[in-house]
Amino acid sequence: MARDTSPQCKQCRREGQKLFLKGERCLTEKCGVERRAYPPGDHGRGRQKQSEYRVQLREKQKARRYYGVLEAQFRRYYDKASRQPGITGENLLTLLERRLDNVIVRLGFAGSRRQARQMVRHGHWTVNGRRVNIPSYQVREGDIVALKAGSPTEPIIREATELTANVPAWLQADHDSLTAKVLRQPERREITTPVQEQLIVELYSK
Ligand code: SF4
Repeated sequence: MARDTSPQCKQCRREGQKLFLKGERCLTEKCGVERRAYPPGDHGRGRQKQSEYRVQLREKQKARRYYGVLEAQFRRYYDKASRQPGITGENLLTLLERRLDNVIVRLGFAGSRRQARQMVRHGHWTVNGRRVNIPSYQVREGDIVALKAGSPTEPIIREATELTANVPAWLQADHDSLTAKVLRQPERREITTPVQEQLIVELYSK
């Protein structure tokens, strides 16, 4: 399955802000944005030409990188969101937020989406008692997410839970048994992703 393998700190530096793609390291002074607060590349410190298109493009790239989704898949999310009733931008964020790899991060069971994605791909997580190895799996209200019994990743997951400050209200996590329940769909105000989704809609609507 295709995935984005480009250096993560460069992705943050390109977007000009911390996207927290590397878990614990993002909280230290080793963070790439802290050390070099300018875009990567030979012309990184040069003056950036601003345009409406550029602002919209950067917002889309930021959202895509935050969730670790490639362009074609991101476009499919947008197409699906635009067919759903309601506000397209909010629908888009809700679809991204309901990805199983994202949910595992929000629950505090992984330090980063890349780590969560790898654990899912390797079959360490179950949904409603059945093993799910698709990171893009869309969780639904009432789903029970649990670590597979006997998984060797348990120590890593317990370490990640210690760094977790809070779990969003649409999810319920049990950090002792490493299980969780999806209480409902997320509301826009509960999605903390640092993007202005309207700019993405404007980009794709051109
Ligand atoms: Fe981004 Fe984390 Fe790298 Fe900092 S350490 S630049 S937040 S991936």
